[in-house]
Amino acid sequence: MLIPPAWRPRVDASYTAPKAVLFRINPLRAPDAAAVWAGLVPLRPEPVVGVADVFRLPSSDRDTLTHHPLAADGSLYIQGIASMAAVWALDPQPGEEVLDLAAAPGGKTSLIAACMNNQGRLAAVEPVRARFFRLKANLQRLGVRNAQLYLKDGTVVGRLVPGRFDRVLLDAPCSSEAQFTRLNPASWAHWSLKKVRNSAALQSRLLRSATEALKPGGVLVYSTCSLSPEENECVLDALLRERDDLQPEALPWPVDLPALPGLTAWDGRPLHRDLVLARRVLPTEWTDTFFLCRLRKRG
Ligand code: SAM
Repeated sequence: MLIPPAWRPRVDASYTAPKAVLFRINPLRAPDAAAVWAGLVPLRPEPVVGVADVFRLPSSDRDTLTHHPLAADGSLYIQGIASMAAVWALDPQPGEEVLDLAAAPGGKTSLIAACMNNQGRLAAVEPVRARFFRLKANLQRLGVRNAQLYLKDGTVVGRLVPGRFDRVLLDAPCSSEAQFTRLNPASWAHWSLKKVRNSAALQSRLLRSATEALKPGGVLVYSTCSLSPEENECVLDALLRERDDLQPEALPWPVDLPALPGLTAWDGRPLHRDLVLARRVLPTEWTDTFFLCRLRKRG
């Protein structure tokens, strides 16, 4: 994939340098953001322009923040900005029914609950037992009260509750290319083309389930932390060819992130032209690799 030359030095450097640490203040535990800010002194977080209560610290503060009492009690949550952007793209509202189809460890689930102000119903699905219990513990710590948790394979959910949800997030399991860093060779030790292919097959099944579970008129956000078109545009293109009731939409995009439009051709093959509305966030000194697409099911 062609990274524009202007981005190249920052993207290349991101593989060898530690990243800034991003965090958000969690209103479900800390309604007074100023008190959290004061509790962080002597750390000096910089606000992220465009969004309230999201801050950035240099990488050298990561350990201090990770072990800070305000992180331990759920007043703040360390989370990549592109992960937050997946929830901003979903735009969940209080009182709605929302499905998070691949939820553990719960970073996005907890932000969805915060956007819903704990009102309405949030269903969170995770099939891996150890991850399910981590999800449960995290949501408790973060003050989430409107979530019901299901230890379940997400591929069957659409069949069980067709047309049920106002919004569905599928933050799909993937080959995790976002984790690559030259600082740690183990970060790519488990990556392979086979893993990309297997991920794409599971993503397709989960995406069909997510679409089934969505109400007519509802919003679906598909995201992965991989760059590969096979796990992103190609999976979406196959679905869009099967169904004419799904329409990609522009993403609400409150923060100026280093992102490229989705691809409309790959490997000599044309893809659905509206996939241009998807976004591929590039890895830089403050962002992680991420792919996002928002779709609406026609009413
Ligand atoms: N959304 C999470 C967050 O922000 O904290 C991260 C989700 S992670 C990218 C993908 C999750 O999907 C993993 O926890 C994985 O165990 C789970 N998963 C794997 N297979 C699944 C399936 N068949 N159905 C639902 N979830 C699955």
